[in-house]
Amino acid sequence: MNNTELLGLLKKHFGFSGFLVGQQEIISDLLAGKDTLAIMPTGAGKSLCYQLPALALKGTAIVISPLIALMKDQVDALRANGIPAAYYNSTQPPAHQQETLARLKDNALDLIYVAPESLSQLLPILNSIPLNLVAVDEAHCISSWGHDFRPAYTQLSHLKETFPGVPIIALTATADKPTQEDIKIQLNIPRAAVHLSSFDRKNIYLEVRPGINRINQILNFIKGRPHEGGIIYCLSRKGTEKLADKLNSKGYNAAAYHAGLLPEDRAKIQEDFINDRTPIVVATIAFGMGIDKSNVRWVIHYNMPKNIEGYYQEIGRSGRDGLPSTALMFYSYADVVQLAQFAQGSTKEEYQLAKLERMKQFAEALNCRRRMLLGYFGEHVYKDCGNCDNCNVPPEYLDGTIIAQKVCSAVARLNEKESVNTVVDVLRGSKNAHVLNKGHEKIKTFGAASDMPWLDLQQYIIQLINQGILEVHFHQNGRLTLTPLARQVLYEGRKVRLAILVKENPKNKKNSMETEPESELLQHLKNLRYAIAKEDSIPAYIVFSDATLKAMEKEVPHDMDEFSRLKGVGEAKLEKYGARFLAILKDFDQPRRTQKKTNKPKKQVSTLLKTLELYDDGHGIEEIAQKRGLAINTIWGHIIQLSENGEHIDFEGLIDGDELEKIANARDNVEDSTKLKSYYEYFNEEMPYWKLRLGLHLLMNP
Ligand code: ADP
Ligand code: MG
Repeated sequence: MNNTELLGLLKKHFGFSGFLVGQQEIISDLLAGKDTLAIMPTGAGKSLCYQLPALALKGTAIVISPLIALMKDQVDALRANGIPAAYYNSTQPPAHQQETLARLKDNALDLIYVAPESLSQLLPILNSIPLNLVAVDEAHCISSWGHDFRPAYTQLSHLKETFPGVPIIALTATADKPTQEDIKIQLNIPRAAVHLSSFDRKNIYLEVRPGINRINQILNFIKGRPHEGGIIYCLSRKGTEKLADKLNSKGYNAAAYHAGLLPEDRAKIQEDFINDRTPIVVATIAFGMGIDKSNVRWVIHYNMPKNIEGYYQEIGRSGRDGLPSTALMFYSYADVVQLAQFAQGSTKEEYQLAKLERMKQFAEALNCRRRMLLGYFGEHVYKDCGNCDNCNVPPEYLDGTIIAQKVCSAVARLNEKESVNTVVDVLRGSKNAHVLNKGHEKIKTFGAASDMPWLDLQQYIIQLINQGILEVHFHQNGRLTLTPLARQVLYEGRKVRLAILVKENPKNKKNSMETEPESELLQHLKNLRYAIAKEDSIPAYIVFSDATLKAMEKEVPHDMDEFSRLKGVGEAKLEKYGARFLAILKDFDQPRRTQKKTNKPKKQVSTLLKTLELYDDGHGIEEIAQKRGLAINTIWGHIIQLSENGEHIDFEGLIDGDELEKIANARDNVEDSTKLKSYYEYFNEEMPYWKLRLGLHLLMNP
């Protein structure tokens, strides 16, 4: 099969018009009958690497997959694309299993998914039908080096002997060498072609913030993202419950998830998350492995994870659809101490502490975070990424020599026996019990930095630790000692540079702010998607991905032909869903296309009139939004548009003279006066979008 034919199949079945990085090479190898090992990060599109060949070749493909949730998700997605597929595992009712086996026997399936434990039950049939390939997904489960080791995976070595002419493809997102070798040995594919792609996940914005006032920071973060869902990881079970309660009490819909819950409760939470019924899950790291949800828009780490592998795996759950996503991590010194204590006494203590140290360095990095992450995984990049907090707002520095001298001197005078917190107390001149009991108030540096806020001083000391000027001994109550560099600071006039601490909204100008409000069209498209998902009992993102809905919003196709060209629309989905989405799109399409002829777009007016009616009846904006099932910002848009159309609207009490003046002044100072976002940023995200829009409208139409 040549490339054009392959691309034809790709569009027909999956609606995509091109391959993602790495897919094409892997697919060619498989089609050429070669065994293959594909190591690609989450969201890189591994499934397609065996699904497309399965369709291109005669016969059936078998896919070994470790979790029922994953199998179900993939089979749902294939069926939504009109591809005959099924899964087989031990939890299904016997009648269901029999039916699947019968279809398999009749060559009626293009792909069959099976758990490794159930594979033996399929073998007799597999021997009697044309098998075109074997895919082993999440192949790291085969290796006891890996983290999700599954004994049944080690029984797969016979596959190569049983089906010598059938190519095997193993896929995983776990990169390390020992695991790779193990996979090849255990699957009996020593000469497999190895495809290792970049681990960069460019669409995920990386940000780390000091863990101060985390709950408020999180509330602010999610407030700006009313239409997005995500995961918040916490260290402890109790932590997940407390935070979920807090979010619920503030009106958000969040569930706590941890290993202490009953399996059926866990399954329900996971399902509600996948189906967008519960947009936020607050979880321990027990959550995530069985989740292929493509539109997780953000991942927050309430606590710092214990190593970079874990961090990368967890943030990787966001943005599988390739759309912009955010990974926000909070970091505090207390987290480091606690994690170090967890590691203590374990058999791999030294190894774990070393990993923790790297994680801490990442948290405290002052340069491009992505370069550091990729470097950790052995990928060296020479350009800053432009999509992390440090690239976004590079830190500014101050001459910290005097501060450093004071700190080092205090550490010396405390005989290198005290922890960061005590050093801070002493420098600030606190007369607390610990200080007084030990007589620390008598040393010379007592109170030498009494003018500095506690947290600032603590942060500076952490920077000194990271610069290798001080050392922490976690085993010994975290006492600080001086390094040779400290002696240069104290006695040889060595200069020290410290990053200026950023208050409030640190480094988050770009991504952590409120996202721009969703358009009315997109809301309608999402509502329809949700309705279809319910009718068909599949997750919404399987009906269409967020990326496809965004494409609809942008292109506004007006017939089946235009609709069919959208990314993610293959033949089956075009036929099944096209007309329903087009009906919505048509309403929005009309004003745009007919604007030149009549300046009274029909539907637009009717939706505006509905809002006007309610507004004139004395309903508040929020109430109208709720009644109409639209976002508050949309209703504001209506009100302003009505006013622009000449309707008399009473704006009394919505915006005052002061605010108008501020907005007027801002016009000359914002970065781009045609963008609301610029105004929003200019006012430090404190003035809501609607007010900005209203203010600008009033200024232009006095
Ligand atoms: P992985 O298993 O590597 O984590 P998936 O197979 O789940 O990734 O795919 C991730 C997302 O990428 C899915 O939403 C999938 O539809 C999408 N995708 C896969 N291949 C393509 C492609 N060629 N073009 C556009 N999107 C693709
Ligand atoms: Mg996958």
